[in-house]
Amino acid sequence: MSKIILTGDRPTGRLHVGHYVGSLRRRVELQNSGEFDKIYIMIADAQALTDNFDNPEKIRQNIIEVALDYLSAGLDPSKSTLFIQSQISELTELTFFYSDLVTVSRLERNPTVKSEIQMRGFERSLPVGFFTYPISQAADITAFKATTVPVGEDQLPMIEQTREIVRKFNATYDEVLVEPEVMLPENEACNRLPGTDGKAKMSKSLGNCIYLADTEEDVRKKIMGMYTDPTHIQVSDPGHLEGNTVFTYLDAFSKPEHFEEYLPEYANLQELKDHYTRGGLGDVKVKKFLNNVIQEELAPLRIRRKEYEKDIPAVYDILKAGSDAAREVAAQTLSEVKAAMRINYFDDLDLIHAQTEKYKGIE
Ligand code: ATP
Ligand code: MG
Repeated sequence: MSKIILTGDRPTGRLHVGHYVGSLRRRVELQNSGEFDKIYIMIADAQALTDNFDNPEKIRQNIIEVALDYLSAGLDPSKSTLFIQSQISELTELTFFYSDLVTVSRLERNPTVKSEIQMRGFERSLPVGFFTYPISQAADITAFKATTVPVGEDQLPMIEQTREIVRKFNATYDEVLVEPEVMLPENEACNRLPGTDGKAKMSKSLGNCIYLADTEEDVRKKIMGMYTDPTHIQVSDPGHLEGNTVFTYLDAFSKPEHFEEYLPEYANLQELKDHYTRGGLGDVKVKKFLNNVIQEELAPLRIRRKEYEKDIPAVYDILKAGSDAAREVAAQTLSEVKAAMRINYFDDLDLIHAQTEKYKGIE
């Protein structure tokens, strides 16, 4: 069986380092590993509209931002298909058919959607489209027969929902759909990178992000203002690592080489942590180190972004070509789905023949 990746992002803002460690960095590695037959990367504008229906301009403006972030991170349009969700109308058809296979109470149990509803204050004004977006995500994944979905931890309930839809579809109709596997980041800290304010998740909607496209100076300011341990007041005080965002970021970003280069008095992260918890290590020193580490990671992205920014029409061309290619694949799956659901009336000569026979001899 082919190995196929599908993943994507909502164009609700520029991409941030949470996206980078949670999914984007991995996609680039997987792309370059050559182990996958096909890689589809989707800009989920239709999904973004489910909770931004009244602000279409925001989504429209951010398509290019996300595309530039993709390209600057190293996604290569000659190896990966970059496309825009709304341009593949087959996805909405699949969503409609899959809706029959999911109950309202099942959707109500989705913990990620539950917390997103709360965060957006949607308790009494929940758009049906937002409530059912896990079904549309199942359409996105299965349209490309994806086997692997590299995402952050918040997406686990969506993949589970997709797997249930696949099993139900295949059992009810015919073995057409492929059950995907989730691929979480290997490093625990990357699963759900907290915001610079220490909140549970760095999220475009919460305004606590370090963006991939931030300038060097912006990044430095955000890091120097980051949430650490509120009880660590004097340098000599023992510090705590639990909930300390700076250390979580070091878990996500730092490599042994960084110590040699920027902080040679420590052999590795464990030594730095030990000193911090013992007391005698100031937050400013740790933040400066983190700044060096993150700047090193982001520098090549900034250079690539500048290049792509010079030719924006070419970026739209990449998205158009990707959307055309993606549409062909989704159309093929949709036709298999329709055949399995017995709604392919005009392609089925046997059906027409059988009906003809049935009415023969009736005057
Ligand atoms: P929104 O607030 O609009 O939902 P978001 O910041 O949550 O935006 P998404 O587009 O919903 O971003 O998520 C895209 C991908 O990035 C998903 O795979 C998700 O798991 C991953 N991701 C998002 N935020 C983080 C984070 N803080 N840490 C790790 N992965 C993340
Ligand atoms: Mg999200």
